[in-house]
Amino acid sequence: MIIDTHCHLISEKYGDLDLVRAESLALGVGHCVTQGTSTYDWEPQLALAARMPDFVSSCLAVHPSEVHTVSDEQFEHMVQLCRSHPQAAIGETGLDYFWDAPEGWSEQDFRARQLHLLERHFELAQELGLNISLHTRDKVGLASFEDAFAIARNFPKVRPVFHCFIGDGAQAERIFSELDGLISFTGILTFNKSEHVQAVATWCPADRFMVETDSPFLSPTPHRGKVNIPGRTKFVVDKIAELRGMTAEEVADCTTANARRFFRLPEGV
Ligand SMILES: [Zn+2]
Repeated sequence: MIIDTHCHLISEKYGDLDLVRAESLALGVGHCVTQGTSTYDWEPQLALAARMPDFVSSCLAVHPSEVHTVSDEQFEHMVQLCRSHPQAAIGETGLDYFWDAPEGWSEQDFRARQLHLLERHFELAQELGLNISLHTRDKVGLASFEDAFAIARNFPKVRPVFHCFIGDGAQAERIFSELDGLISFTGILTFNKSEHVQAVATWCPADRFMVETDSPFLSPTPHRGKVNIPGRTKFVVDKIAELRGMTAEEVADCTTANARRFFRLPEGV
Protein backbone atom coordinates (compact mmCIF):
# COMPACT_ATOMS: atom_id res chain seq x y z
CA MET A 1 0.00 0.00 0.00
CA ILE A 2 1.26 3.44 -0.98
CA ILE A 3 0.51 6.70 0.90
CA ASP A 4 0.41 10.00 -1.01
CA THR A 5 1.81 12.36 1.62
CA HIS A 6 0.94 15.64 -0.09
CA CYS A 7 -2.04 16.50 -2.26
CA HIS A 8 -4.81 19.09 -2.47
CA LEU A 9 -8.14 17.29 -2.78
CA ILE A 10 -10.23 20.44 -2.28
CA SER A 11 -9.72 21.83 -5.76
CA GLU A 12 -12.01 23.04 -8.50
CA LYS A 13 -10.12 20.68 -10.79
CA TYR A 14 -11.86 17.71 -9.13
CA GLY A 15 -15.44 16.71 -9.69
CA ASP A 16 -16.32 13.44 -8.03
CA LEU A 17 -13.88 12.69 -5.20
CA ASP A 18 -15.35 9.20 -4.79
CA LEU A 19 -14.12 8.51 -8.31
CA VAL A 20 -10.66 9.94 -7.49
CA ARG A 21 -10.60 7.63 -4.48
CA ALA A 22 -11.63 4.57 -6.54
CA GLU A 23 -9.04 5.32 -9.25
CA SER A 24 -6.34 5.84 -6.62
CA LEU A 25 -7.16 2.60 -4.79
CA ALA A 26 -6.99 0.76 -8.13
CA LEU A 27 -3.40 2.07 -8.54
CA GLY A 28 -2.41 0.83 -5.07
CA VAL A 29 -2.61 4.15 -3.23
CA GLY A 30 -4.68 3.49 -0.15
CA HIS A 31 -4.33 6.73 1.77
CA CYS A 32 -3.45 10.37 1.19
CA VAL A 33 -2.67 13.46 3.24
CA THR A 34 -4.50 16.49 1.87
CA GLN A 35 -2.89 19.85 2.60
CA GLY A 36 -4.64 23.09 3.40
CA THR A 37 -3.79 26.34 1.64
CA SER A 38 -6.32 29.04 2.59
CA THR A 39 -9.73 29.77 4.11
CA TYR A 40 -11.65 28.09 1.28
CA ASP A 41 -10.27 24.59 1.83
CA TRP A 42 -9.98 24.25 5.63
CA GLU A 43 -13.53 23.27 6.51
CA PRO A 44 -14.17 21.21 3.33
CA GLN A 45 -10.98 19.26 4.08
CA LEU A 46 -12.09 18.48 7.62
CA ALA A 47 -15.46 17.32 6.25
CA LEU A 48 -13.76 15.14 3.63
CA ALA A 49 -11.42 13.54 6.17
CA ALA A 50 -14.45 12.82 8.36
CA ARG A 51 -16.33 11.30 5.40
CA MET A 52 -13.39 9.17 4.13
CA PRO A 53 -11.26 8.50 7.23
CA ASP A 54 -9.75 5.38 5.67
CA PHE A 55 -8.54 7.31 2.60
CA VAL A 56 -7.93 10.92 3.70
CA SER A 57 -6.03 12.60 6.52
CA SER A 58 -6.11 16.37 6.82
CA CYS A 59 -3.51 19.05 7.46
CA LEU A 60 -4.42 22.72 7.69
CA ALA A 61 -2.27 25.78 7.04
CA VAL A 62 -1.85 28.89 4.96
CA HIS A 63 0.17 28.33 1.80
CA PRO A 64 2.94 30.94 1.40
CA SER A 65 1.36 32.13 -1.87
CA GLU A 66 -1.91 32.75 0.01
CA VAL A 67 -0.70 34.74 3.02
CA HIS A 68 -2.27 37.94 1.64
CA THR A 69 -5.71 36.25 1.53
CA VAL A 70 -5.82 35.36 5.24
CA SER A 71 -6.30 37.89 8.03
CA ASP A 72 -4.94 37.42 11.54
CA GLU A 73 -8.50 36.63 12.72
CA GLN A 74 -8.89 33.98 10.04
CA PHE A 75 -5.53 32.48 10.98
CA GLU A 76 -6.75 32.33 14.59
CA HIS A 77 -9.88 30.51 13.37
CA MET A 78 -7.64 27.94 11.64
CA VAL A 79 -5.68 27.50 14.87
CA GLN A 80 -8.95 26.71 16.66
CA LEU A 81 -9.90 24.18 13.96
CA CYS A 82 -6.52 22.47 14.38
CA ARG A 83 -7.01 22.32 18.15
CA SER A 84 -10.46 20.78 17.83
CA HIS A 85 -10.06 18.33 14.91
CA PRO A 86 -7.56 15.52 14.31
CA GLN A 87 -4.64 16.71 12.17
CA ALA A 88 -1.90 14.66 10.51
CA ALA A 89 0.50 17.63 10.54
CA ILE A 90 0.53 21.37 9.95
CA GLY A 91 0.74 22.06 6.21
CA GLU A 92 1.20 23.36 3.65
CA THR A 93 3.23 26.29 4.89
CA GLY A 94 6.62 27.68 3.98
CA LEU A 95 8.18 30.43 1.90
CA ASP A 96 7.68 31.18 -1.78
CA TYR A 97 10.02 33.76 -3.29
CA PHE A 98 9.33 32.52 -6.82
CA TRP A 99 6.15 34.46 -7.55
CA ASP A 100 6.01 38.25 -7.51
CA ALA A 101 4.15 39.90 -4.63
CA PRO A 102 0.41 40.32 -5.29
CA GLU A 103 -1.02 43.69 -6.22
CA GLY A 104 -0.93 46.18 -3.39
CA TRP A 105 1.95 44.39 -1.61
CA SER A 106 5.64 45.26 -1.74
CA GLU A 107 8.06 42.36 -2.14
CA GLN A 108 9.39 43.15 1.33
CA ASP A 109 5.98 43.20 3.03
CA PHE A 110 4.89 40.01 1.29
CA ARG A 111 7.99 38.16 2.45
CA ALA A 112 7.63 39.57 5.95
CA ARG A 113 4.04 38.23 6.10
CA GLN A 114 5.23 34.80 4.91
CA LEU A 115 8.00 34.71 7.50
CA HIS A 116 5.65 35.80 10.29
CA LEU A 117 3.05 33.16 9.44
CA LEU A 118 5.68 30.44 9.01
CA GLU A 119 6.78 31.07 12.59
CA ARG A 120 3.17 31.01 13.76
CA HIS A 121 2.67 27.63 12.01
CA PHE A 122 5.76 26.22 13.75
CA GLU A 123 4.44 27.46 17.12
CA LEU A 124 1.13 25.73 16.43
CA ALA A 125 2.84 22.48 15.39
CA GLN A 126 4.91 22.59 18.57
CA GLU A 127 1.84 23.23 20.72
CA LEU A 128 -0.06 20.31 19.17
CA GLY A 129 2.91 17.92 18.98
CA LEU A 130 2.66 17.73 15.18
CA ASN A 131 5.20 17.80 12.38
CA ILE A 132 5.12 20.27 9.51
CA SER A 133 4.97 20.17 5.67
CA LEU A 134 7.15 22.85 4.13
CA HIS A 135 7.19 24.47 0.73
CA THR A 136 10.20 26.52 -0.36
CA ARG A 137 10.71 27.97 -3.81
CA ASP A 138 13.09 30.53 -5.28
CA LYS A 139 13.55 32.12 -8.68
CA VAL A 140 17.30 31.94 -8.24
CA GLY A 141 19.47 30.96 -5.30
CA LEU A 142 18.35 29.42 -2.03
CA ALA A 143 16.97 32.35 0.00
CA SER A 144 13.59 30.75 0.79
CA PHE A 145 15.28 27.48 1.72
CA GLU A 146 17.79 29.23 3.99
CA ASP A 147 15.12 31.41 5.65
CA ALA A 148 12.81 28.43 6.29
CA PHE A 149 15.77 26.43 7.53
CA ALA A 150 16.68 29.17 10.02
CA ILE A 151 13.13 29.21 11.44
CA ALA A 152 12.92 25.39 11.59
CA ARG A 153 16.11 25.31 13.68
CA ASN A 154 14.29 27.16 16.47
CA PHE A 155 11.71 24.36 16.79
CA PRO A 156 13.73 21.18 17.39
CA LYS A 157 10.67 19.16 18.48
CA VAL A 158 8.88 19.74 15.16
CA ARG A 159 10.16 17.60 12.30
CA PRO A 160 9.87 19.23 8.88
CA VAL A 161 9.33 17.52 5.55
CA PHE A 162 10.58 19.58 2.62
CA HIS A 163 7.85 18.63 0.20
CA CYS A 164 8.38 18.43 -3.57
CA PHE A 165 12.11 18.23 -2.97
CA ILE A 166 14.11 19.27 -6.03
CA GLY A 167 17.27 20.36 -4.26
CA ASP A 168 20.73 18.86 -4.30
CA GLY A 169 22.56 16.39 -2.10
CA ALA A 170 24.09 19.08 0.12
CA GLN A 171 20.65 20.52 0.95
CA ALA A 172 19.26 17.06 1.66
CA GLU A 173 22.18 16.28 3.99
CA ARG A 174 21.57 19.48 5.94
CA ILE A 175 17.85 18.70 6.29
CA PHE A 176 18.68 15.24 7.68
CA SER A 177 21.58 16.10 9.95
CA GLU A 178 20.69 19.59 11.20
CA LEU A 179 16.87 19.46 11.34
CA ASP A 180 16.21 15.72 11.71
CA GLY A 181 13.91 16.35 8.75
CA LEU A 182 12.68 14.42 5.74
CA ILE A 183 12.21 15.11 2.07
CA SER A 184 9.48 13.94 -0.28
CA PHE A 185 9.58 13.26 -3.98
CA THR A 186 6.90 14.12 -6.55
CA GLY A 187 6.35 13.17 -10.19
CA ILE A 188 9.17 15.62 -11.07
CA LEU A 189 11.40 12.62 -10.41
CA THR A 190 9.96 11.00 -13.56
CA PHE A 191 10.64 14.01 -15.81
CA ASN A 192 13.58 14.35 -18.15
CA LYS A 193 16.25 16.77 -16.88
CA SER A 194 15.71 15.94 -13.22
CA GLU A 195 19.02 14.11 -12.87
CA HIS A 196 20.15 15.93 -9.73
CA VAL A 197 17.02 15.04 -7.74
CA GLN A 198 17.13 11.52 -9.17
CA ALA A 199 20.67 11.30 -7.77
CA VAL A 200 19.36 12.25 -4.29
CA ALA A 201 16.62 9.60 -4.57
CA THR A 202 19.30 7.02 -5.35
CA TRP A 203 21.29 7.44 -2.12
CA CYS A 204 18.77 8.98 0.29
CA PRO A 205 18.66 6.99 3.59
CA ALA A 206 15.59 4.73 3.66
CA ASP A 207 14.05 6.40 6.72
CA ARG A 208 14.33 9.93 5.30
CA PHE A 209 12.03 10.11 2.31
CA MET A 210 8.38 9.93 1.45
CA VAL A 211 6.40 10.09 -1.79
CA GLU A 212 3.65 12.42 -2.94
CA THR A 213 1.83 13.76 -5.98
CA ASP A 214 1.08 17.41 -5.05
CA SER A 215 -2.05 16.62 -7.06
CA PRO A 216 -3.98 18.07 -8.82
CA PHE A 217 -0.59 19.45 -9.97
CA LEU A 218 2.62 17.83 -11.26
CA SER A 219 1.21 14.76 -12.98
CA PRO A 220 4.07 12.33 -13.60
CA THR A 221 5.21 10.82 -16.87
CA PRO A 222 3.31 9.16 -18.67
CA HIS A 223 0.39 11.41 -17.63
CA ARG A 224 2.20 14.75 -17.79
CA GLY A 225 -0.04 17.80 -18.21
CA LYS A 226 -3.20 16.08 -16.98
CA VAL A 227 -5.08 16.67 -13.72
CA ASN A 228 -3.13 14.56 -11.23
CA ILE A 229 -4.66 12.19 -8.67
CA PRO A 230 -3.15 10.60 -5.53
CA GLY A 231 -3.07 7.22 -7.30
CA ARG A 232 -0.23 8.40 -9.49
CA THR A 233 2.13 8.32 -6.52
CA LYS A 234 2.60 4.82 -7.94
CA PHE A 235 4.74 6.26 -10.77
CA VAL A 236 6.98 8.04 -8.26
CA VAL A 237 7.41 4.77 -6.35
CA ASP A 238 8.20 2.91 -9.58
CA LYS A 239 10.85 5.48 -10.53
CA ILE A 240 12.52 5.28 -7.10
CA ALA A 241 12.51 1.49 -7.32
CA GLU A 242 14.26 1.68 -10.70
CA LEU A 243 16.83 4.19 -9.40
CA ARG A 244 17.62 2.21 -6.24
CA GLY A 245 17.46 -1.28 -7.73
CA MET A 246 14.64 -2.27 -5.38
CA THR A 247 11.16 -3.65 -6.03
CA ALA A 248 8.23 -1.23 -6.02
CA GLU A 249 6.84 -3.17 -3.02
CA GLU A 250 10.02 -2.53 -1.05
CA VAL A 251 9.90 1.21 -1.81
CA ALA A 252 6.18 1.33 -0.94
CA ASP A 253 6.78 -0.50 2.36
CA CYS A 254 9.51 1.89 3.41
CA THR A 255 7.82 5.14 2.34
CA THR A 256 4.51 4.05 3.88
CA ALA A 257 6.23 3.22 7.18
CA ASN A 258 7.90 6.66 7.11
CA ALA A 259 4.56 8.37 6.37
CA ARG A 260 2.77 6.50 9.18
CA ARG A 261 5.43 7.65 11.64
CA PHE A 262 5.76 11.22 10.38
CA PHE A 263 1.99 11.89 10.22
CA ARG A 264 1.16 9.72 13.26
CA LEU A 265 -1.59 8.02 11.29
CA PRO A 266 -4.12 6.11 13.35
CA GLU A 267 -4.01 2.32 13.58
CA GLY A 268 -5.64 0.65 10.61
CA VAL A 269 -4.83 3.41 8.09
ZN1 LIG B 1 1.18 21.49 -2.33
